[in-house]
Amino acid sequence: MKTGYESEKVGGLVKIAVIGGGISGLGTAFVMGRRIPGAKIDVFEKNTTPGGTISSYRNEGFLMETGPNGFLSGKPTTLKIVDMLEKQDTLLPADSKAEKRMIVKHGRLVTLPDKPLKFFSSSILSFGGKLRIMKEPFIAKKTGDEDETIAEFGKRRLGEQAVTWMLDPMVSGVFAGNVDKLSLASCFPRIHELEMEYGSLVKAMMKLRSKKASPSGRLTSFENGMGQLIEMMVAADAFRLHPGIEIREVQKEGDGFHLDHVRGAYDAVVLAVPAYSLAEMVIPGLEGLKQDLASIPYPPMAVVPFAVKKGIASGFGFLIPSVEKRDILGALYSSGIFPNRGTDEHDLVTVMLGGDRHYEVREMGLAELVDKASEELAGFLKVERRELENIGLFRWQRAIPQYYTGHYKIVEKVEEASASVPGLFVTGNAFYGIGINDCTLAAFKIAEKVQNYLTEDGE
Ligand SMILES: Cc1cc2nc3c(=O)[nH]c(=O)nc-3n(C[C@H](O)[C@H](O)[C@H](O)COP(=O)(O)OP(=O)(O)OC[C@H]3O[C@@H](n4cnc5c(N)ncnc54)[C@H](O)[C@@H]3O)c2cc1C
Repeated sequence: MKTGYESEKVGGLVKIAVIGGGISGLGTAFVMGRRIPGAKIDVFEKNTTPGGTISSYRNEGFLMETGPNGFLSGKPTTLKIVDMLEKQDTLLPADSKAEKRMIVKHGRLVTLPDKPLKFFSSSILSFGGKLRIMKEPFIAKKTGDEDETIAEFGKRRLGEQAVTWMLDPMVSGVFAGNVDKLSLASCFPRIHELEMEYGSLVKAMMKLRSKKASPSGRLTSFENGMGQLIEMMVAADAFRLHPGIEIREVQKEGDGFHLDHVRGAYDAVVLAVPAYSLAEMVIPGLEGLKQDLASIPYPPMAVVPFAVKKGIASGFGFLIPSVEKRDILGALYSSGIFPNRGTDEHDLVTVMLGGDRHYEVREMGLAELVDKASEELAGFLKVERRELENIGLFRWQRAIPQYYTGHYKIVEKVEEASASVPGLFVTGNAFYGIGINDCTLAAFKIAEKVQNYLTEDGE
């Protein structure tokens, strides 16, 4: 472990430590740096590069992502950070031609309806399945406060077919997760709220449409990929990043918080590491939560990009419902979405493997991963495998936290425990949503809490 860093106590300034340099930690540090006057903020990141799962890399003229491809512009907080950076010119909205989204049904690609009326003519559900969805406004809202899985919610409101062909692939695309295990209220709190507030999703859609309040918006990234957001935050001088420093222990003493071998005390500490890391750390107040934290599953994922001759893959990409029992989760037509990810002759297509139904991806050799990805992709694109050139590979042994039913109890316990230690704050995608927008929303909220704490403390 590195011990070379020494924190400097600067007279009159408040000192804040952020542990974890993914979007949650960097976002919180950035907002605090801009909003808390006189704060000196140190971010400690275990890896030699910041960003957590976010990173972009180039190879042979292609621009690839190790993790997220973008965020939705309908929610404001990531865009607000870009505004605060004054870097709006780096934003890259998805190409409007990339609207065509597909799923695999009985081994074939089927286009999802992009407008409600097209739903009736699409082959995504049978006539019976469509009729069942039309009953949705007449189904009473859920009573009782039992935490439901996404599949239970879907079957109750929309019918079995909608779960199989719509919710299952959607959940796989967002969480690489399993609809039979994930909690609706924890994973998609807005959908849960809409049912509670309007009694029906269809009624809610009609009401919100008339108010023009679409929460989704357009998939958005940056000219140089999602990694550019990380680079811009680090370069903004709002905090000091200390890469290559893993913090294992936080102690609270009379003069403040002490971290491992870092000299000097901090007035506040923000923990922004994955739940499995929190479980291994020694942190005041959180001693009794190790088992709960370690119980949050993080299945593996592999991201395998291919160069594909132009004209073969058009649209956004496809997702595969689990009933199809395939070896891949789906594929994103990355340069269809953001044209500058490909070259003049070739498109970039990214295959995803792994997730909660495919833990075997953790043990597979890299050649085997590429082999499976190319075999499946060639079949769906109807090309020979030699026409697909593999140009990279990234594997996450623990990719995305899964919010199973009952997850909210862990979040409550963590919040209670951290509140019992004034000056200690916990954030990260294990608790407040896994999307980039969720992480940046939490960044603003935690920054405000830290600011309030420090102001109250100083009064
Ligand atoms: C393949 C993939 C695709 C995705 N696609 C999308 C997408 O398109 N859109 C979207 O919105 N979201 C997407 N996500 C989800 C999103 O990227 C993540 O939820 C988000 O980036 C998590 O950020 P975080 O900072 O909370 O956690 P992390 O990124 O996990 O960061 C935590 C950091 O803490 C560090 N750390 C851990 N322990 C310590 C320690 N003891 N001391 C110091 N540092 C420590 C780690 O090294 C890491 O850098 C995707 C995720 C993956 C894996």
